[in-house]
Amino acid sequence: MQKALLNNELTRLGMTGAGFVAVPQLPFSPEVRGYCEQNKCGQYGKTWACPPAFGSVDACKARCAAYDQMLVFAKCYPLADSFDFEGMMDAKEDFAALARQFGTYCARQSIAGLLLGNEGCSRCAKCTYPDSPCRFPNDLVYSLEGFGLRVDLLAQAAGIAYHGGPNTVTFFGGLLLREKEARI
Ligand code: SF4
Repeated sequence: MQKALLNNELTRLGMTGAGFVAVPQLPFSPEVRGYCEQNKCGQYGKTWACPPAFGSVDACKARCAAYDQMLVFAKCYPLADSFDFEGMMDAKEDFAALARQFGTYCARQSIAGLLLGNEGCSRCAKCTYPDSPCRFPNDLVYSLEGFGLRVDLLAQAAGIAYHGGPNTVTFFGGLLLREKEARI
């Protein structure tokens, strides 16, 4: 798969930034998982998309090591003001839906990548976690932070602005690819 095709699809989906990072340069940090465990976002242990469902940071790192590059993508959303919680939640859901659409596009192109995105999964009214497997395992978008990645450093490595300025929120995702699928 050509990088240009993937970038075109991300542009079509309205992403405001995209860039590649080599897997050995991915900024893993066990501290990030520590923030997940504090559960300030309320998603820890709630779905198959967030920890502890997919194992330790070392296990996530090993999973990423099966790939060569991450195509990092992001979308910056305007907010009414810095207290616009509703706007922030709408943006979060919109980004999650766009990430799933990108996953569907990749599947149609027979790209066997691993897709990561923003936290949580609200696809089903009630998640099956932890009693039975995910209803949509092939479409599951795991959390970037849950994998133990520092998103600020990831953005920097990909050449994407981490902050879009006052009264905005930016969400990030990443598609892990093998070299043969990311070739130019
Ligand atoms: S797709 Fe449904 S079952 Fe799977 S993690 Fe999301 S909410 Fe849970």
